[in-house]
Amino acid sequence: MWRNLIRNTLFALILVGLLLIGVKQFNSNGLNDTSNSKSNKEINQNLVSSRMTYGRFLEYLEMGWVKQVDLYDNSRNAIVEASSPELGNRPQIIRVEIPVGASQLISKLKEYNIDFDAHPVENKNFLITLASNILLPILFVGGLFYFFQNSENANSSPMSLGKSTARFERRPDTGVGFNDIAGIDEAKAEFEEIVSFLKQPDKYTIVGAKIPKGILLVGPPGTGKTLLAKAIANEADVPFFSVAGSEFVEMFIGIGAARVRDLFKKASENAPCIVFIDEIDAVGRERGAGVGGGNDEREQTLNQLLTEMDGFKENKGVIVVGATNRADILDSALLRPGRFDRQVTVNLPDRLGRIGILKVHARNKPIGNDVSLVQLANRTPGFSGADLANLLNEAAILATRYKKSAITKNEVNEAADRIIGGIEGTSMDDTKNKRLIAYHEVGHAITGSVLKSHDEVEKITITPRGVAKGLTWFTPEEDQSLLSRSELLARIITTLGGRAAEQVIFGDPEVTTGASNDLQQVTNLARQMVTRFGMSNIGPLALEDENSGQVFLGGGMVQGTEYAENIADRIDEQVCKIINYCEQKAIEIILDNRVIIDLVVEKLLDVETIDGAEFRTLLSTYTILPEKNAPYISKFS
Ligand code: ADP
Ligand code: ZN
Repeated sequence: MWRNLIRNTLFALILVGLLLIGVKQFNSNGLNDTSNSKSNKEINQNLVSSRMTYGRFLEYLEMGWVKQVDLYDNSRNAIVEASSPELGNRPQIIRVEIPVGASQLISKLKEYNIDFDAHPVENKNFLITLASNILLPILFVGGLFYFFQNSENANSSPMSLGKSTARFERRPDTGVGFNDIAGIDEAKAEFEEIVSFLKQPDKYTIVGAKIPKGILLVGPPGTGKTLLAKAIANEADVPFFSVAGSEFVEMFIGIGAARVRDLFKKASENAPCIVFIDEIDAVGRERGAGVGGGNDEREQTLNQLLTEMDGFKENKGVIVVGATNRADILDSALLRPGRFDRQVTVNLPDRLGRIGILKVHARNKPIGNDVSLVQLANRTPGFSGADLANLLNEAAILATRYKKSAITKNEVNEAADRIIGGIEGTSMDDTKNKRLIAYHEVGHAITGSVLKSHDEVEKITITPRGVAKGLTWFTPEEDQSLLSRSELLARIITTLGGRAAEQVIFGDPEVTTGASNDLQQVTNLARQMVTRFGMSNIGPLALEDENSGQVFLGGGMVQGTEYAENIADRIDEQVCKIINYCEQKAIEIILDNRVIIDLVVEKLLDVETIDGAEFRTLLSTYTILPEKNAPYISKFS
């Protein structure tokens, strides 16, 4: 009783102190943090980070499985909390990329009565600055009341704020071993030595061998970084701490740092062990970068992390594994020797990798004889390990729904279609719109087929899926890390082919908004050709890096001024030139092949879906005008 009173009084004093410092130091980042901190905490309670297509998300919405939605980056991304009976009602945290043009989303959310929050982009603007200076003191006082009220009955007393929120597993997730990881062999190999160190640390320390304290796993989401860290702990049979970087990013100065200290204290008590910090860029972002200058709280947290990593001079067996998909924005101090001195890149799996991963996830599922995992791997370039796991899982769910005893080709195909394109809707009535969409899709398919440098058609459909009213898929060549200029141009022409067909067949006034996504892709590609690949008259200059445009990330702001303004004009001019050229070509191809287009459209209106083989048979019965004698691309300069 007395202890509580003293504790709370002390806490009040500290808070008032913080308040004084805080009011002075708060900036626009702080404002964001207040709105983010709630969702961050909730998100990270379940480190699940799967992804879902927008179409699937709409289905979840309709089924009433969505609990809460947090919108980020001007509603381009959403973090969705949901639970579906299909997955045993366990809470899921899912990332959804919102397609441009999905403007009714907010009204939909309201309609279904879903709790949602839109989080502002970190944007230093005058109003926010003003608001933060006036509003924040009020927020702080409000915050005080909030904490005191909560501390009355909640079991989380204010004193536990500085405690680490890391989840601790004495024996990590039963059974995740190196055997359960496929497709990332190099990364696995890197870790074998670490496992043997963790098993017998003395053997190494006696001979003075230096074992890395920190390993940084760099790669896109869902490629198995968490899985790898768990597997090391499991193989070495040591405890596993896991925490997300964003859990250290807190509203009050000093709390993140206190959590870091606490985490490392617990870890060293349990050494040897693995400390896994997911999304380490949330704390480790380059200091002083980003919009609006530094964030003192984050800097303190980062400094604490650096100190802790320096702290264990000779490694007694605490190995820190960090994961990020953006190593380039990390503070360089983190990457210095003695800290994260080993970087392991985890890439999206290639074809063989995908076969391996599919095999791992097919192990405990009844798979029918007609399913070819090799074929499935061929069809899924760009899929991450998590996507593939998700695919087989969906297929299993479908098989259950259809009361089948094994997963057949049918379910696998349907699951793949869902994941690539979203959920199938009801087909449209035979209206002018349906006809227009058919022409649009066939426009893509025909331009793609005529161009030598383009991938083959995999499937054309006018059954609506997700937000798309129709879709044309191409089978990409195996893992296209190197694309030639003519391949890029072919891609732009083909992407414009849909709209070109609308234009040629229905005339300018009838062109619809349906191509907006196509146009966005085209603009992106053309811009990259100019600014990243040196494929324009401006010459071989890298004017932007891969991630520019994302100003909210560290370092992004500088990019805007990296080149002079007249270069910006020239970039725009070159981008327009490429796109205009490609549009001309697309229209030319549509005009040249009008007869076959009409025929394919009639067929498509009839059957709704044509697969690649059928499509090619159709083409072979008519002569289409190939580019072979009239090269559509090489003329461009
Ligand atoms: P990350 O941490 O890189 O975002 P995760 O390790 O959380 O990705 O992967 C999520 C899930 O996807 C895993 O639990 C696993 O089921 C599957 N997965 C991802 N990569 C692989 C892989 N290389 N081999 C097997 N399964 C994988
Ligand atoms: Zn299109």
